[in-house]
Amino acid sequence: MKTPIFTLSLLSLLLVACGGGGGGGSSSSMPDMETGGMEMPSEADSNNGDEGPRAGHSSQPVTITLTDETGDITSQEVLSYLRFDIGGGPYQAGPDFSYSDDPGLARFVIAPTVRIAQGTPDHERALIHHAVAVINRELPHQWHLQIGSDAPPLAVIESIPNNQIFVDFAPYDDWNDPLKGSSRPDSEAIAQIDVTKEYDSSQLRWEKKRMNKAHVWMSSETDLTDPILLSILIHELLHTLGIYGHADADEFPDSLMRDSELLVTQRVPEVDGTVLRAIYTRYNPGTEPEQISVNSLGPWESTETNLTGEIGSVSFGVSHRHGVSVPWTNGPTPNVALAENPSILGTVTWNGGLVGFTPSEQPVSGGAEISVNLSTLTGRADFTDLESWHAGQAPGRLGTGSMWGDGDLGYTLSVSGNYLRSTGGDSGTVAGNFYGNDHADVAGSLERDDLTAAFGASR
Ligand SMILES: [Zn+2]
Repeated sequence: MKTPIFTLSLLSLLLVACGGGGGGGSSSSMPDMETGGMEMPSEADSNNGDEGPRAGHSSQPVTITLTDETGDITSQEVLSYLRFDIGGGPYQAGPDFSYSDDPGLARFVIAPTVRIAQGTPDHERALIHHAVAVINRELPHQWHLQIGSDAPPLAVIESIPNNQIFVDFAPYDDWNDPLKGSSRPDSEAIAQIDVTKEYDSSQLRWEKKRMNKAHVWMSSETDLTDPILLSILIHELLHTLGIYGHADADEFPDSLMRDSELLVTQRVPEVDGTVLRAIYTRYNPGTEPEQISVNSLGPWESTETNLTGEIGSVSFGVSHRHGVSVPWTNGPTPNVALAENPSILGTVTWNGGLVGFTPSEQPVSGGAEISVNLSTLTGRADFTDLESWHAGQAPGRLGTGSMWGDGDLGYTLSVSGNYLRSTGGDSGTVAGNFYGNDHADVAGSLERDDLTAAFGASR
């Protein structure tokens, strides 16, 4: 029997830059790319005149496979991670700093809105958009973070409305965080959070009940590369979404939550993404560590269905597991930003294909064309000849499926660094990366309430 005698909204502090130094080139959990299943015919083979209208979309074929595989993350791993996460600590942050807090799952009650500080340069703005998109890939559509209007810069957390996360890139000295002085010095980033706690008189302890709001402070004075900044930003945002602690390095070596600079080259590490989904789809805010069990976790099917595409140096796909479709992309990181590539000028076009699942797990496939004007860094993403097949079927050649929707979707794009994002067009959100040292390839995700898809294309 629990009688909360106090309810308080308390500020807590989380910090990051954990472990420091790590990073460069470390592998996050890679998707299992073994196909094993059926190799499907090319969908976009411009050399094959009988392929119908999709022919001509690409100078290279997109290889599409549909496979069932055994999921890598066991329910026992999720339970162990969660018990630690909501256990109250102590949590280690770097070799010389640890912190503790009260137990309980502090997650948002509704999908929060991320607001970027006014005046944030477009480069950092693109990183924030991409971090949000990469996290949203891991979550079911109803839990997707939204990006709202710009926020006042350097705001104090008390001024942030509930269910909002402000993000500032600012010099460390300007971080408006009263607890900063007690944190590990020289942090590159901090997730400052506001949590409601209640006193549990039967267990004689305070418990975290929900996440109210948060502020992610990122240092604007580092010379870290974009991929590392992106990884740190995702690590901080995962703290604000309810992953409180830093996963044990021995038990979860691939976790971004044990090392914020573990590069997120293609997706949130599988263990962290799986735990995030469990937090938002299997457990209520305020869940106590003693309530974490195989029974409360619920059905945990070991099979996942993967729809995978490959073109040029990139692979991309959608992995359906535990009732959620997760898009991902992978490829070699370019050495310079797209606009700094001296060998491409004017308007550049990449052609390829898209694969995805509808909410009822019907596969969808079609052509993808990304074009970017390198002087304005704006462009378009067009997805054409979209067809669907029955759930469990692999997408076949053009014309063998049923037209999906009205057959095409189009978006306007903005590009910064090597990231692209949609700025308008049909409903949904496009987010992607350019890949390869010569920016030969691009891949990304398209997320809508009726389609979760990934695309890849080559110049
Ligand atoms: Zn951290």
